[in-house]
Formats: sequence, structure tokens, C-alpha cells
Amino acid sequence: MTIFEKIAAREIPAKIVHETDEFFAFHDVNPQAPTHVLIVPKRVIPRIAEASAADSELLGRMLVASREIAQKLGVAESGYRLVINNGPDAGESVPHLHMHLLGGRHLAWPPG
Ligand code: AMP
Repeated sequence: MTIFEKIAAREIPAKIVHETDEFFAFHDVNPQAPTHVLIVPKRVIPRIAEASAADSELLGRMLVASREIAQKLGVAESGYRLVINNGPDAGESVPHLHMHLLGGRHLAWPPG
């Protein structure tokens, strides 16, 4: 099981802020901004480069849910960034697709 599957199964604790039967969101254990949550499908897709057409609706629902999650966390008005790291150069460290939602401070662009 991936670490995120273990969180979904409640084998590892996490601060879950949103959950559906398909995906869930929880606070990152090593936050890079005052608000930093991960939105993760329960079905394991290793990374976005390995997603298929069959994953399109799930990924779309995760993207749309980010709005509700940002509202819940109080960053909808101030702004936030959605990030998916794919592969070594992007710093991907967990081979279970996840979308970072970062906010609560000004985020520099371009990213480091
Ligand atoms: P990435 O580098 O894009 O693969 O992101 C993986 C993220 O998972 C990092 O931001 C980690 O801090 C986070 N992470 C790893 N283990 C846990 C955990 N047990 N609970 C919450 N976040 C975690």
C-alpha cells in the first residue's frame, strides 16, 4: 500500500479536511505554506503521466472540489495554487498521484 492508501484506510493518522468515495484531502505533514493540503484519489494512479482517459472524470471532480476545499480552508478569496509534481525534476516523492493546494501567503512565480 502507498502511504496515502494507508491514510485513506486510517492506518496512518492525518488531518482529513474533505472526503468522498473517490478521493480525499488532508493537511500536508510538511507544509510549504500556511495552507497546504493534498487532494488524493483513493484509486492509485502513480503519477499524472500515467493517468488514462478512464481517469478523466475522477481528475475533473478533484479539480472542481478544490474550490470547495479552498473555501473551507479560508483561502478562496486570497488565492491559492494547485500543483502536481511529476517525476524526479519536479520533486515527486510519493508514487500515488496527489494535487497540492497551497495558499495563505504570497506564492512566488516562477516556482523554485
Ligand atoms: P510530492 O513531493 O509532490 O510527491 O509530495 C508528497 C507530499 O506528501 C510532500 O509534501 C510530503 O510532505 C507529503 N507527505 C508525505 N507523507 C505524508 C503524511 N504521512 N501525511 C501528510 N503528508 C505527507
